Amino acid sequence: MTNTVIKLIVQLVIFTLAGTVIGLIVGQPLVMGVLGALLWAVRHAFAVAAIEHWVKQGIDISPPDIDGPLGDVAYKVNRYDRAQARRSQLLQSTINRFQQSSSAMTDAIVIIDRNDNIEWWNGAANTLIGLVERDRGYPILNLIRSPEFVRFYRANRDGKSIVLQVSHSQYIEYHLHRFGDGDRVLVARDVSESKKIDQVRRDFVANASHELRTPLTVIHGYLEMMMDADLPKGFQNPVESMYKQSTRMESLVADLLTLSKLETEQQADTNKPVHVASLLSQIQQEAIALSENKHEIELQCEEGLDITGNAKEIQSALSNLVFNAVRYTPEGGKITIRFNRTGSKGTRAKFEVEDTGDGIAAHHIPRLTERFYRVDAGRSRESGGTGLGLAIVKHVLVRHNAKLAVTSELGKGSRFSCVFPSKRVIKK
Ligand code: ADP
Repeated sequence: MTNTVIKLIVQLVIFTLAGTVIGLIVGQPLVMGVLGALLWAVRHAFAVAAIEHWVKQGIDISPPDIDGPLGDVAYKVNRYDRAQARRSQLLQSTINRFQQSSSAMTDAIVIIDRNDNIEWWNGAANTLIGLVERDRGYPILNLIRSPEFVRFYRANRDGKSIVLQVSHSQYIEYHLHRFGDGDRVLVARDVSESKKIDQVRRDFVANASHELRTPLTVIHGYLEMMMDADLPKGFQNPVESMYKQSTRMESLVADLLTLSKLETEQQADTNKPVHVASLLSQIQQEAIALSENKHEIELQCEEGLDITGNAKEIQSALSNLVFNAVRYTPEGGKITIRFNRTGSKGTRAKFEVEDTGDGIAAHHIPRLTERFYRVDAGRSRESGGTGLGLAIVKHVLVRHNAKLAVTSELGKGSRFSCVFPSKRVIKK
């Protein structure tokens, strides 16, 4: 029972008792008691009528001036209404500010409900995605129909992004985020300018490397000839040094060209069968030659395990990892090359190179695949490194949906592993 009901009953009892007492004095206790109760009922009937009138006028105006429990109820309703009004004002001004700020943004924002229908969008979405008022409530996939976008949207991976070429020179990056109860927000950004700059950078590196290759080959060829010739005293050391440097430059240019190709050749076939056992045995022989028999190099390869990919690219990535192991392992160390099935069902394939070399401090590991990142630049150059080997490995693995993992301990050795997904393992 609420306080108000208790108060009303108490009042009723008081009015009835007061009537009965007066009735006892005048000799009519029953009649006067009933009259007391009636007086209570009439008083509250007027109060209810006043409240009804007030509600009809709208409860945001001041409540009627009524004494007693019903007056308290009217006062509380009015106070609650004013608090609600203040809250909705605050909410409205927050929404207004959000809409103002989002319409000032150059990124398009589209709110999509749990049924994939467009619920709201900001001004930039009109120009960037082409949304118009009649699109409200329609499925987003009716408007952005590109198969790549449809695949991306259906994958429904929170926070993921995709870049689509929408015209000859325009690229749009889409981000998808989940929120609320199955709703999503799609953020679209015009990335044409940064794409253009990236393309200029790529073209420059590709062209510069290409242009440097021919003169370098000529210089290198002549230096090679001079090395074999009977040079006057004092010329031998400089020519030898020039030959070494031109060899280094040739490797650098070759690696830059490889990287450029990996970045630009989207169409290269990465789905041909690759016979990994023979490829690894060839890499092992080359590693033995590079090591000049200073290391023990073991190969453990699972029979009949082959993958699909681009043999040239796979060869380049795996040999980079094996040759690094040779170059960063001191004489007498051991290098183990493994290729076998992995995963709980054994459906994936893992390539692994383990060495007993210098090892790498933990803070360097996340940056190893950056171009020209070296733990020890002097050591890398001395051993003929270009600083691009692991960048090439990373690109090749991305193109083959594979992942690189590095574990290492300083002074004990390193392990580089590449895991190829089940879809790349050839079923026999
Ligand atoms: P680099 O041509 O300098 O070897 P990479 O990109 O192949 O360039 O490797 C980047 C750096 O990672 C190397 O400079 C080296 O410091 C480190 N590194 C790579 N492989 C190994 C390894 N097996 N053991 C120790 N350090 C390694």
